[in-house]
Amino acid sequence: MAQRFPGTTRQKLIRDARLVVVKIGSAVLTREGRLHRATINHLGADLAELRRTGRQVIVVSSGAVASGLKSLGLTGMPKAIVEKQAAAAVGQQVLLGAWSDVFRKAGVAIGQVLLTADDLDHRTRYLNARHTLQRLLHHGVVPIVNENDSVSFEEIRMGDNDHLSALVTTLVSAQLLVLLTNVDGLHAGGPDGPVIGEVTAGAAARAHVTGERSAAGTGGMITKLEAAELVGRSGIGAIIANGGKRNVLRRIIAGEAVGTFFHPTPSRLDPRRRWLATATRARGSLVVDAGARRAIVRRGASLLPSGILAVQGRFEAGAVVRICAEDGTAFARGLVSYAAEEIDRVRGKKGAELPAILGYRYVDEIVHRNDLVIEPGAE
Ligand code: GLU
Repeated sequence: MAQRFPGTTRQKLIRDARLVVVKIGSAVLTREGRLHRATINHLGADLAELRRTGRQVIVVSSGAVASGLKSLGLTGMPKAIVEKQAAAAVGQQVLLGAWSDVFRKAGVAIGQVLLTADDLDHRTRYLNARHTLQRLLHHGVVPIVNENDSVSFEEIRMGDNDHLSALVTTLVSAQLLVLLTNVDGLHAGGPDGPVIGEVTAGAAARAHVTGERSAAGTGGMITKLEAAELVGRSGIGAIIANGGKRNVLRRIIAGEAVGTFFHPTPSRLDPRRRWLATATRARGSLVVDAGARRAIVRRGASLLPSGILAVQGRFEAGAVVRICAEDGTAFARGLVSYAAEEIDRVRGKKGAELPAILGYRYVDEIVHRNDLVIEPGAE
């Protein structure tokens, strides 16, 4: 079991949280293909209350697809992605209209931010999204974030808003992620067991996930657990709780034992490594020998051409790749300084040989130590 974050209790972490990301699932916000206004109203009141405590808040709101179904005459969640995209286009404005109504009553301005996986994949666009969110917060606006469903297609979809909310949380360095769903938290041994109050290690928690998926959304308990783990690696706490229960947010912020709290892990990643570890998709793999693996994992060394056995995939310099042991297990990720084709020509060679082989040499390192992040558990 991982250790708890030194000196941090659930209460202290929540009390000190200045910026909170609240993700609300489709199953909470919609009923039978329509938005459930009463739920939005009471959650909106709670969110406004959260701001009155002096905290900043970002809402990741699902429900665009689910609340657009009825208008398109659809009775259930369509299989075809294009139908989902159409439903999202209709539903997203209904969703925003509803959020806008409740926040207006509380005297709070909101701003819509729609993101695709691509926006967070490229470092500059990632930083750009961060600046926009920070500027909105600076102006006292509550950003309402969703995936840009009507233009995201399967390949570029982040897949679910649990993952998106975790990326947004690390992007803005919030201190707490609250995942509101239609169950009370993580239940021990499956849905009928008692709610686990606190979790210190994601791996142990996984044993309790039975794999059920939400009918209205795309996630389930496993994607929530992954989201909690993802933010935990950046030193951020997470809570899974029931968004259908009255005043759930107020009770969480008051420090009550509601839902399941996930303690962050002790090792924090710096912001650049957070992006490398979480937001980017790997474009290929480099298979390295045992010596290179040891040097990277134990000493935090750079990856040199001499330790590389094989190159998989086609990628340009600057791409993110998985770094794998000989048995194929990925133990790190990093930004490459050469393209796949160049690395293939210099693998197994010494840095001094690069000019003779390539006709040039930018740097000796294929992946510089500053551009490397070790996978959890590889240490
Ligand atoms: N972005 C989707 C929507 O608003 C929801 C994705 C999810 O359920 O996590 O409908």
